[in-house]
Amino acid sequence: MTEAGKSADRCVFCQIAAGRIPSIRVYEDDDFIAFMDIAPQTEGHFLIVAREHYERLEDMPDKILAKALPLAKKLAAAAMTGLGRSAFNLLQNNGEAAGQAVGHWHMHIIPRVEKSEIPFKPGPTADLTHLPFVAENIRLNIK
Ligand code: 5GP
Ligand code: ZN
Repeated sequence: MTEAGKSADRCVFCQIAAGRIPSIRVYEDDDFIAFMDIAPQTEGHFLIVAREHYERLEDMPDKILAKALPLAKKLAAAAMTGLGRSAFNLLQNNGEAAGQAVGHWHMHIIPRVEKSEIPFKPGPTADLTHLPFVAENIRLNIK
């Protein structure tokens, strides 16, 4: 069973935020904690995690979300300097099909050395007869 969808009292990141499960922290404030990933994709891989239990991006209050990217910028800069790196991926998974294993909102900062370490590759060129309809399905549902 994955962690996705677990209620706050059984959530591993809520337990970490409360200090009931240990973590190696790099930062904390009123809205976020940041700690080293237990199974890093690369050296220096860490997570920026909402202090409160929100499952996905769509659940995050705009007020908290507005602070997330500036914090990612600040902590990524610290990782680049501190680890002597010049590249990183900012990753944020929503839903099991997207690879979200822990159902508590978080962003990954993944410092990179070799581009081959994690194979993010572009897909095949889009079908331009179909693409406008895909775009329209998104456009019509913006609230
Ligand atoms: P997701 O796939 O949900 O975007 O990423 C979850 C991340 O949390 C994974 O990279 C995983 O290694 C990390 N993780 C899961 N459980 C723990 C834990 O108990 N402690 C820490 N530090 N990281 C964890
Ligand atoms: Zn949680």
